[in-house]
Amino acid sequence: MSVWERSSTVRVVPSARPRKLAKVPFVELADGRLQGVVSSGSDIGRVYVSSVAAGTYAYACSTNNNRPCGGARGGFCNHIRALVVEAVLQYGVDRVARYLRAEDDAELPDAGSVTSVMAAARPGPGDSSTAAQVFSRFLRHLGYLELEPVTAPLPEMHWFPTAGAVA
Ligand SMILES: [Zn+2]
Repeated sequence: MSVWERSSTVRVVPSARPRKLAKVPFVELADGRLQGVVSSGSDIGRVYVSSVAAGTYAYACSTNNNRPCGGARGGFCNHIRALVVEAVLQYGVDRVARYLRAEDDAELPDAGSVTSVMAAARPGPGDSSTAAQVFSRFLRHLGYLELEPVTAPLPEMHWFPTAGAVA
């Protein structure tokens, strides 16, 4: 790889002593989708923007650098599953199931059953073009969180692509 290629690589640079980001630092029910940001289990500098559409359960997952998630080929990846879990924690299972129109004969008791109902419908890939908007809302959300001492967000600048920072 040439120097030029390396320095132009769009990459999120972690801070020297990265603080741990929550597994799912951002989740919202918006635009007819459950969508949010899920941190990579292995790489502190990488996050995924994941979404599931209400009704169709069409799903999308890509990194903040717009690379498609390898786990989301042909079904829900772990990021989408984690997103549903976090949404249920924040909004409650009833509200999430209602929003997504994930229904069963019986009431759905938890995130796992909501995911199962959606997965059983064999949904296809959805629209990932809104990922950048979701990610920028996440960055703003991080900015708000910095006002609260109970959270430990990464400084916002670290999430911007840094061409030239790889010196
Ligand atoms: Zn994924």
